[in-house]
Amino acid sequence: MERDQNMPHGAHAEMTHKHAKTLPATPSAPKISDYYGCNVFGLETMKLLIPRETFRKVQEAVEKGERLDLEAANAVASAMKTWAISKGATHYCHWFQPLTGATAEKHDAFIDVTGQGAVLETFTGQMLVQAEPDASSFPSGGLRVTFEARGYTAWDPTSPAFILENTGGATLCIPTCFVSYTGHALDTKTPLLRSIEALNTAALSILELFKSDARKVFSTLGVEQEYFLVDQEYFKSRPDLLLAGRTLFGAASPKGQQLEDHYFGSIKDRVFAFMTDFESEAFKLGIPLKTRHNEVAPHQFECAPIFEEANVAVDHNQLVMDLMERIAARHGLAALLYEKPFAGVNGSGKHNNWSLGTDTGKNLLSPGATPQENLQFLTILTAIVKAVHDHSLLLRASITSSGNDHRLGANEAPPAIMSVFLGAQLTKVLADLEKGVTTKGTDPMWISFGIDKIPPVLKDNTDRNRTSPFAFTGNKFEFRAVGSSANSAVPVATINTIVANQLLETKKEIAAAMKGGKAFKEAVLEVLRKQYKQSKTVCFEGNNYSEDWVKEAKKRGLPNEKTTPAALKGFDLKKSVELFAKLGVLTEEESHSRYHILLEKYAKDIAIEAKLVGEMTMTLFVPAAVDYQNRLAAAVAAQKSLGVAVAAQASLLREVAGRVESALLGAASLNKAFEEADRVEDAAARAEAFCTKVKPWFEKIRTDVDALELLIPADSWPLPKYREMLFLM
Ligand code: ADP
Ligand code: MG
Repeated sequence: MERDQNMPHGAHAEMTHKHAKTLPATPSAPKISDYYGCNVFGLETMKLLIPRETFRKVQEAVEKGERLDLEAANAVASAMKTWAISKGATHYCHWFQPLTGATAEKHDAFIDVTGQGAVLETFTGQMLVQAEPDASSFPSGGLRVTFEARGYTAWDPTSPAFILENTGGATLCIPTCFVSYTGHALDTKTPLLRSIEALNTAALSILELFKSDARKVFSTLGVEQEYFLVDQEYFKSRPDLLLAGRTLFGAASPKGQQLEDHYFGSIKDRVFAFMTDFESEAFKLGIPLKTRHNEVAPHQFECAPIFEEANVAVDHNQLVMDLMERIAARHGLAALLYEKPFAGVNGSGKHNNWSLGTDTGKNLLSPGATPQENLQFLTILTAIVKAVHDHSLLLRASITSSGNDHRLGANEAPPAIMSVFLGAQLTKVLADLEKGVTTKGTDPMWISFGIDKIPPVLKDNTDRNRTSPFAFTGNKFEFRAVGSSANSAVPVATINTIVANQLLETKKEIAAAMKGGKAFKEAVLEVLRKQYKQSKTVCFEGNNYSEDWVKEAKKRGLPNEKTTPAALKGFDLKKSVELFAKLGVLTEEESHSRYHILLEKYAKDIAIEAKLVGEMTMTLFVPAAVDYQNRLAAAVAAQKSLGVAVAAQASLLREVAGRVESALLGAASLNKAFEEADRVEDAAARAEAFCTKVKPWFEKIRTDVDALELLIPADSWPLPKYREMLFLM
C-alpha cells in the first residue's frame, strides 16, 4: 500500500497534520423552506404539471396501490421529463434496492435517435413504469438461473421521483421494486410494501371493532443514523477500512471515549461544514433532517429526520447514507457507516422509531383521551408484545450482519436477546389488567385498574431505558438493535408482518370470546389478559447490558443468538416462513432465497476480512517489525561487544521477535482454517465454518500486531493509528 506523502502519520502526525483543508466559505444560508424538496417530483409538483383528471388517477393508484393506465403514465412521464430536464438532468434511472443491502441504479440518457443523425429527448409512460435491467449479477439465492437473468423494475408511485446531483451532472431517479421474470421479489422494497399492506388490512380490522373512522393505517418510521467521520487520507491508507469498512488492527488510543467529552460536545468546524453541506443536499431531496449531534465515541455523530411513512423513510435513509459518503468526500473526509469501525470504542446503530399512523391523523401508539381509545391502544400494544414474544428469533434475524455481531451485547448496544421495555406506568397498567380482571372481570374493575387514566403522552423522560432493544418511548417503539449500515426495510417489514399477524389473531380471539357470550369490553379484556400472560416473559425493564439479564433471559427461555449464522435461523424457522407466506409478504421460495443470500453474504464478509488480516500481517506489519528487530539486534550485538549492559534491550528484542513469530504462526493457521472453510459448500455450514473456525484467528493475530504497534517506532508503523484517525481532523 502506497503511503500518501501529504498525510503524515506516525510520530509527527499531530505536529504536521494539515488541519481542515480550505473550508468552503460560509454560504449566506438560504432559508430551508425556500429550497426544501426542490429536487423532488412530489404530488405537489405533479399536480401543477399534469391534467387534473390524470392527477386524480395517480392519487388513486397511489392510495390503492394499483397500476396506472398507460395514457396516464405517458402524461406523468412527459411532465417528469420536462421537469427533470429543466433541473439539468440528462439521464433517468430506475432506482432500486437489491438484496446487496445497497441501492442500485442503471442510467439511460433521455435521448432517442431521429434517423437524421440527430437525437431527441424522450421518456414514455412505459419507460416510467417498467424497465428491464440485466439482473444476472445481483444476489437471488437461487430464484433466478443465470440464463433466465431477466429482472424487472417497476415504478413505486408511493415514493416520489427525485434528482440526484453528482459532480458534473444530474439524474432523474425513479424509486422502483425489483422482481424476477417469474415475479419473485429480488429486493427489500417489495416485501416492505407488501408488509405495509398487510398491516393496513390487519389494523383496520381491529380498528373496526373500536368504531374508528380511519380508512387507512400505515407504519411510520424515524431513523436515527449514527456514523463516524475520519480524514479521507487516513481512510485511504488503511486497506482494512477501505475494503472491510472496519479496522482489523489498531492499538487503543491512550485517550478514547473514557472522558465522555464527545457526546453532545461542540461540533468541530470541519465536521460542521460537512454536516451543513450534507443537510442542504438532503433538504433538496425532501429529506426532513431535524437533529444532528456528536455521539459518544470520538469522531462519531448522529443525524435524525422527522419521521415519515415507512416506505418513504426507508428510501430517504438509503439516500442519507449515500449522500453522507459522497458529501464527506467533498470535504476530504470518509463517512463510516459500518457497525463497529474501531475496537474498544462505541459502534454505530440505526435506531428505528416505529409506530402506526392513520389517515385521520392519529398515532395508534398514543394512549387516547377516552377509555374506549385507551382500550384500543392497549389492544395494539399487547399485540405488539405478543408478536415480539412469539417471533423474537425472527426479529433478531432481521437485524443480523457480520458488522452488527460486533455491536450487540458489547455493552454499548442491546444484547442479542430481543425483549420489550414498556416503562413503569404501562407495566403497572398491564399487571393490573392481569390481576384485576382475574379477580372480578367486571366493568368497575376495568375502570379501577386505570385504563381511562393513562395520560395521553406517557411520561417517558424519567424512565427511558436506553439499554432495551425494543423500547416503548411514549408514543412509538424504538428498535435500537438495528445496525448502522442496515437497510431498514428488512426490520420494518418484519415488525409490520409479525404485528399484522398478531392483530388478525387478536381480532379472531375477541370475536370468539364475544360469540361465547361476553360483552365487547369484557371480551377484549379477557383476550388482552390472556395474551399478556402468554408473552410477558419478553418484557424486561432492567439493565439489558448486565450479565444478570443474560442469565435471567436464559431462564425465561428467550433466544440469545450472538452470531449471524445462528441468528439467521430465525428466517428459516417453519413458523417464520409460514407467517410471511400467510400474510403475502414473502413466498416460501422468497424466504428461503433470502436466508441463503444472507448466509452467503456473511461467509463472504468474513472471507474478505480473513484475506485482509493475512495480507496486512504479511506485507505490512511483519516487514515493519522485522526491520526494527534487525536494527535492535545489531544495536544489541554492537553494545554487547563493547561490554555495555543490554539486558533490557535484549528483552525488548525478544518481545518483538516473539510477537512476530506468534503473528506469523497465527497467519499460517488462519490460512489453513480459511482453506478448510472455503471447501464447505452447504451455505449454512459454510457460514458457520467461517464464523467459528476462521474468525477466531482475527483476534489472536490482532493481539500480537497491536502489541507490536506499541513497541515499534511510531514513524516506522505502516498505518495511521487510532489516536490519529479518532482525534485529528
Ligand atoms: P432520541 O432522543 O431517541 O435520540 P431523536 O430525536 O434522535 O430521539 O429521534 C427520535 C426519532 O423518532 C425521530 O426521527 C422522530 O421523528 C421519530 N419519531 C417520533 N414520533 C414518531 C412516530 N410516531 N413514529 C415514528 N417515528 C417517530
Ligand atoms: Mg437520537
